[in-house]
Amino acid sequence: MKHEPRILIIGAGPTGLGAGYRLQELGYDDWVILEANDYVGGLATSFTDDAGFTYDIGGHVMFSHYPYYDELVDKLMGGDYTELQREAWVWMEDRFIPYPFQNNIRDLERQTVFDCVMGLIESQRQQHSPENFAQWVQAVFGAGIAKHFMLPYNFKVWATPPELMNYVWIGERVSVIDVEAILRNVIIGEDQVSWGPNNTFRYPLRGGTGFLYDGLRTFVDHKLHLETPVASVDPHAKEVRTADGRRWPYDVLLSTMPLNRLVQSMEGVPDAVQGAVDGLHWSGSHIVGIGIDRPAQSSKNWIYFPEPEVPFYRVTYLSNYSPYITPAPDQTLLLTETSRSPHKPEDGATIVDRVIDGLIHTGLMHDSDRELIASRWLCSPDMTYPVPSVTRDAALGTIQPWLRSNDVWSRGRFGAWLYEIGNMDHSAMQGVEFANQVLCGEPETVWIPRGEGGGGEGIR
Ligand SMILES: Cc1cc2nc3c(=O)[nH]c(=O)nc-3n(C[C@H](O)[C@H](O)[C@H](O)COP(=O)(O)OP(=O)(O)OC[C@H]3O[C@@H](n4cnc5c(N)ncnc54)[C@H](O)[C@@H]3O)c2cc1C
Repeated sequence: MKHEPRILIIGAGPTGLGAGYRLQELGYDDWVILEANDYVGGLATSFTDDAGFTYDIGGHVMFSHYPYYDELVDKLMGGDYTELQREAWVWMEDRFIPYPFQNNIRDLERQTVFDCVMGLIESQRQQHSPENFAQWVQAVFGAGIAKHFMLPYNFKVWATPPELMNYVWIGERVSVIDVEAILRNVIIGEDQVSWGPNNTFRYPLRGGTGFLYDGLRTFVDHKLHLETPVASVDPHAKEVRTADGRRWPYDVLLSTMPLNRLVQSMEGVPDAVQGAVDGLHWSGSHIVGIGIDRPAQSSKNWIYFPEPEVPFYRVTYLSNYSPYITPAPDQTLLLTETSRSPHKPEDGATIVDRVIDGLIHTGLMHDSDRELIASRWLCSPDMTYPVPSVTRDAALGTIQPWLRSNDVWSRGRFGAWLYEIGNMDHSAMQGVEFANQVLCGEPETVWIPRGEGGGGEGIR
């Protein structure tokens, strides 16, 4: 590779912007970002509609894992943010219980509580070696919690049968079992409401999550080409072709477009790599936002919905995040997420009406609120969750080494296809670390190879 390589970045989401930001910070000049949309931010973009309501593409909570990212966020937000205490709930059996579910089951139907505790006792007695996420759930949580919450909820989130998923992604993403906390809840009556890595979180005062990426754009604007979708990549000629027919030579390519589409757009891909793409699975979403001309009447942040009666798996009270999310004070913005896939088709033509019915069914809206709806917003990305399927790591173990042997780095939520490092901070840091490695030789720490020995090494 040349000492001063020409770097080409596909995509101006958090990963591409993180890379561009770091390249300019290092004083490097030979790089360019190509972005298909006429805006930056990718899945972390926010949109303000004609009525003045600002929507994110699903509830985006800022997690914090890296000092570099935290400093960047501080720089971008200054003092213009709100700080929130997490208030997460589960709605089932016609009532709200605090999240995490398993530590707060005491108020459910007696039969449900019994099933959950009995299942837990059974599971503690047995040795398990689960082969997929469904088996892992049964082994760790027991049959009762699996049946009443974990399995139906996860199907709603992933739009994928849990039997087809692995469980290597769990880490801090799923609150697992604390037997004492469960018994304290059921027997002594103590609720446990503060679990997890995001007990408090910050949110931009204005402009939604996308405010951060609009801010990052100012550092990379001189290198950014919007409305320039990449149509194909020739890894042998080291050239990208965009839909407008232009050719862009590179020495190193950072791709943040979905990995499957990258491989499909490349020329001269070995059959094994081409075939491995079939092992990558994903789901899409219908994100529906409803703006209502009345106060929120709740301090909740978000609520999980495991039951199939309502389409959404999560509703965020986005208007509780910042007073500027709605055009006027004392208005409400509810942001709902409904997953979709061939395993779980969801009709886009009826989703907004079904969501409103679901909000009324669960008491988040009253029937009389129909008259007060000031905004309805629908955004239906095809790809929102890179599913950690049982076939994923072998696929990545074949595809990624071949890409690297061709000086292509595929990083970010769908570039790396690793849900466990698919949040905004992980993504931006994968971009930053790409720059650090290419220019300074520093090893990556956020992205880690998966499926090593999956057969990809040496395939060219
Ligand atoms: C429903 C939902 C909820 C989420 N919740 C959270 C959360 O609570 N906290 C959190 O931290 N993160 C959350 N995320 C994740 C967050 O959105 C991602 O981490 C982040 O957007 C990933 O950034 P990225 O740059 O890797 O990918 P993307 O945001 O997907 O950006 C990729 C970019 O590449 C562009 N592109 C694609 N193909 C081409 C092409 N052929 N040519 C040119 N450009 C192309 C796209 O237009 C896009 O701008 C959530 C995501 C979703 C969908």
